[in-house]
Amino acid sequence: MSKTIIVSNRLPVRTTEKDGEYVLAPSEGGLATGLGSIYRDGHNVWIGWPGLEVTEQKDQDRIQRELATMNLKPVYLTQDEINNYYEGFSNETLWPVFHYMSTYARYEQSYWDCYYRVNEKFRDVILETAEPGDIIWIHDYQLLLLPGMIRAALPDISIGFFLHIPFPSFELFRLLPWRAELLDGMLGADLLGFHTFDDSRHFINAVTRLLPINASSNVLMVNDRAVIAEPFPMGIDYERYGSMVNNPDVKDQLKQLKDNFNDIKMILSIDRLDYSKGILQRLQAYELFLQLHPEYTEKIVLYMIVVPSRDNVPQYIYLRDEIDKLVGGINARFRTINWHPVHYFYRSFPIETLSALYHFADVGLVTPMRDGMNLVSKEYVASRTNNDGVLILSEMAGASRELIDSLIVNPNNIGAITRAIEEALVMPKPEQYRRMKQMRQVVAKFNIAHWVKLFMTRLQEVKQIQQSMLARRLSPDMQHQVQQQYQKAEKRAIFLDYDGTLVGFNVNIDLASPDQELYKLLQQLTADPRNEVIMISGRKHETLSEWLGNMNMDLIAEHGAWTKKQGARWKKIPGLTDQWKQDIYSTLDTYTDRTPGAFIEEKSYSLVWHYRKVEEGLGELRANELTNTLRYYTNDKGLQVLPGDKVIEVKNVEINKGRAAINWLQDRHYDFVMAIGDDHTDEDIFKALPEDTISIKVGSQVSAARYYLRNFHEVRQFLATLV
Ligand code: UDP
Repeated sequence: MSKTIIVSNRLPVRTTEKDGEYVLAPSEGGLATGLGSIYRDGHNVWIGWPGLEVTEQKDQDRIQRELATMNLKPVYLTQDEINNYYEGFSNETLWPVFHYMSTYARYEQSYWDCYYRVNEKFRDVILETAEPGDIIWIHDYQLLLLPGMIRAALPDISIGFFLHIPFPSFELFRLLPWRAELLDGMLGADLLGFHTFDDSRHFINAVTRLLPINASSNVLMVNDRAVIAEPFPMGIDYERYGSMVNNPDVKDQLKQLKDNFNDIKMILSIDRLDYSKGILQRLQAYELFLQLHPEYTEKIVLYMIVVPSRDNVPQYIYLRDEIDKLVGGINARFRTINWHPVHYFYRSFPIETLSALYHFADVGLVTPMRDGMNLVSKEYVASRTNNDGVLILSEMAGASRELIDSLIVNPNNIGAITRAIEEALVMPKPEQYRRMKQMRQVVAKFNIAHWVKLFMTRLQEVKQIQQSMLARRLSPDMQHQVQQQYQKAEKRAIFLDYDGTLVGFNVNIDLASPDQELYKLLQQLTADPRNEVIMISGRKHETLSEWLGNMNMDLIAEHGAWTKKQGARWKKIPGLTDQWKQDIYSTLDTYTDRTPGAFIEEKSYSLVWHYRKVEEGLGELRANELTNTLRYYTNDKGLQVLPGDKVIEVKNVEINKGRAAINWLQDRHYDFVMAIGDDHTDEDIFKALPEDTISIKVGSQVSAARYYLRNFHEVRQFLATLV
């Protein structure tokens, strides 16, 4: 029976030491709740660090046995590993870069080395339990290398990965000295989940720029494996926050809050201590608000909870001290005998207290500089069972993409936060209801259970997509079958595309002439009297003549505009005109002038705009613009605009490789027809040829071909087995 393995840095347990004994208790958190339905089931298991250093073997064994009863399995870390892998590379290198605070990042080789070793340590524990057919779901930035490490050991296993923090823009990510290794590690997964569409876009962008990997929308082809990267915005346990209001303890606390803050409007702020949370800017905005609005004296309060975190790191100590100073300053400046404007707590609270505060506060003020999702904002919404209250939310929090009915602010714009506070305090109830109801619907639907289900379902789908792709691969077994058919046949027609099929792409198009190996292969192939070989290319007929004119094969050039039988002269499709070229040329020329690296290739009945040498991204942008412009010009002119591999080609509609292939076959009979090609234009051949054709696409993208081979090297190897 296959099982599911959850992996995260921390296990969902609290381990404390009491009288020299370790005491374990399940810890409750959104993620633990959401994944509870999975890891507690059957043979499933959650693997991670139990949260403290256990050095004695007998203690390790005992804890392991106890954890096993909860379907948990420990990875023990030494103090040195916690310092370098967790606090070092994870929190002092990845965290600041991924949160757009790269000046705080430390690039220490020793941190990296340890990060690598600890990821290996996790891998080893996983490999003790993982078997083919299992599903592994890895969580977060501490384990970016793990998917690749497991993939190397278990090539067919299903691996999902979810990143709980933002994935930064390529410009930030590229700063990391180990950027390629990190991406390679992540790409070991089959499905990569992020909180927002922008995060997934940034990831795909980083991959295509830093690694020789292509993406087609959200699918990355990694060797032969389709890897999908897309957003799965994480939710919370909506029901729990909604029903907490009926808990007696919460009711008591609510009553106290009502007694203490009678007639005072409460603005609530809850964060972990972190420079990504925008706590100082929030305090500055509140101070400015008090200064501009003396009429709110004794009428409002900022209830601010900061949960201690990483406070042995210098930047965090500094931040804590700055918060102390600012809070002290504001209270000293604005307080009255009966009132002080900021109630500040540097500690954590039980969920009952949080729930009472969420339920009581008139305004939720959440203004991080950068936050993967931000659960506090969702918890506030889920707790507003009366449908009132106003959420002010930073546009830099992932949650802002879903909670669009909040008051959305730029956290750097102190004035905007100040104005939002005022807007929130005076917002009429009907408006509050309207906004809060919308947001509650979103948080209710996209809850944590929904998130888990979506991710797991998608992971299974990705595996199915991969399997159906694999079925099309021309494996050695299938090649053997084709060879047998080939041997039996008396008369064979073999259509071969040139660029991308028999040779690799070259930035300089004139440098892609056939090499000795290819000449030899073609000679062998054409030497067999039962073979008719047809080179069917988009190249100019002059070029094909020069390279292949003396060979024992037929040539079809410019996608079918020209045909040359062996030993005969070139013939062109009758009735073609090139009158249109002048107009289109000047359009292409405008784009070439605007785009460094672009150039135009002129053929007799087509014009090609090349952008292989153009800066990544700019080329695609210009190609899109150009395609739109060309559509307008080519309408009603009998022309076709054809996107290809880093080219856009404009040609007469009559010209089509499929039609050329069919014309060539007319009135002849073959008992073996094969066509190999890599481009858009070759799809026309695959579609036009008889059904029993051995059609082979080079590259594993979606295609009308029956089979695929990975690249031109594989094509050459395969052809060599035939001759
Ligand atoms: N939280 C808590 N105790 C507290 C204050 C907050 O457990 O005293 C929880 C809060 O309910 C929320 C989490 O901490 O679920 C913070 O998550 P968020 O995504 O907002 O920020 P993160 O700390 O993950 O960056």
